[in-house]
Amino acid sequence: MSDSLFADASKRLQTAMKYASISEDAVERLKYPKASLSVSIPVRMDNGTLQVFQGYRVRYDDTRGPGKGGVRYHPNVSLDEVQSLAFWMTFKCAVLNLPFGGAKGGITVDPKALSKLELERLSRGYVDAIADFIGPDVDILAPDVYTNAMIMGWMMDQYSIIRRQISPAVVTGKPLTMGGSVGRDGATATGAFFAIEAIMPKFDQLPSQTTVAIQGFGKAGSVMAELLARAGYKVVAVSDSQGGIYAKKGLDIPSIRQYKAMGNGITALYCKNTVCNIVEHEILSNQDLLALDVDILIPAALENQITEANVNDIKAKYIFEVANGPITSEADKVLEAKGIYVFPDILVNAGGVTVSYFEWVQNRSGLYWTIEEVNQRLKQKMIEETERIWSISQELAISMRTAAYVHALNRLGEALNAKGTRDYYINGRIS
Ligand code: NAD
Repeated sequence: MSDSLFADASKRLQTAMKYASISEDAVERLKYPKASLSVSIPVRMDNGTLQVFQGYRVRYDDTRGPGKGGVRYHPNVSLDEVQSLAFWMTFKCAVLNLPFGGAKGGITVDPKALSKLELERLSRGYVDAIADFIGPDVDILAPDVYTNAMIMGWMMDQYSIIRRQISPAVVTGKPLTMGGSVGRDGATATGAFFAIEAIMPKFDQLPSQTTVAIQGFGKAGSVMAELLARAGYKVVAVSDSQGGIYAKKGLDIPSIRQYKAMGNGITALYCKNTVCNIVEHEILSNQDLLALDVDILIPAALENQITEANVNDIKAKYIFEVANGPITSEADKVLEAKGIYVFPDILVNAGGVTVSYFEWVQNRSGLYWTIEEVNQRLKQKMIEETERIWSISQELAISMRTAAYVHALNRLGEALNAKGTRDYYINGRIS
């Protein structure tokens, strides 16, 4: 792929614009991020040396509310990636009708190479560097790839120290004792599960007759595997960054989660641990997993996993994007031509930001909800928006991805127009 990730992401906007009721002004505004910040973060390492890391925060749009988006720790983090993720957050928040704009952050680092103390100094250093750029009413952080509740807790604590007031609503995905919400941990997967449950009956696809392969076994992918297996779907393959495992009869997901939690990679399971005794399985690479002949394929790792190079190998009937941006726009066209249904990231993985919104509401009101309340509200939102996007896609005969962008663009366009349209300023007419 020659395009930058952002240039590729923007193509989705161009396709959807034709179908949305949105002014030229609004379209022009949405082509550019509102503000981008690059920072260097000096960290004293355990051996006494100083190492400087690159960090980023991009607020793409805040017309509908404060920026909202996760913080990623990964060696490949770049401004282009963070900007693309902030762009997707803008549309995701609009799809779910959350009162937020889109933002994202990241640090270029291999977190697995740092000690816990180095990781804490890095996380606090990042907040020191971006403190004037964020805030509960400005831009709110959350976990993403290789960040977790503990890191969110450090970030919230550091921001509170800087502001000299406890500020829980600046970060979501915090530990419960620091103002986190019940249900935030599994929210991305739970939301995706509700979307799958809303869609599959439309194809008369019963769980017991549905095979699933999941790429990525982290906060999102592992919970996804567990929820689907519990609901009767046959999860036949899972993978992490080291590789994957496959069993035609279905995998024993709880054992795999338990083994992973002990710090082991998935491929280390192969004929070494209890899972081998429960069900026989084969080892496979991430590329093999993507090419499996399954009903549902769930990319839940990183972007650009299905590209022009491997799209012709894809055999799944339905793809649910739990990861952000796992399919390039060129690969998307091929999948559509092949009749493979793709359910897009800005809908499917929106459960995470939805429960982040619930956490922010709880922090601001000081009243905390039960897991039943959280899940019931999440279910209602996910099903409502999945059905709306399905109807748009049927009515306009467009893909679910384009329909999701149309749905988001209509809401974003309305908000941008409310600030004054070209028609209003040129002709003096209130439109
Ligand atoms: P995580 O760090 O918990 O897990 C990432 C997983 O991907 C790990 O299992 C890792 O081993 C695997 N992985 C890394 N590189 C890989 C590779 N090259 N091939 C295969 N697997 C690889 O992260 P997460 O929070 O589960 O996020 C996964 C995806 O879901 C990301 O795209 C993220 O942006 C998206 N997402 C996460 C949330 C959330 O709330 N956590 C919300 C929305 C979207």
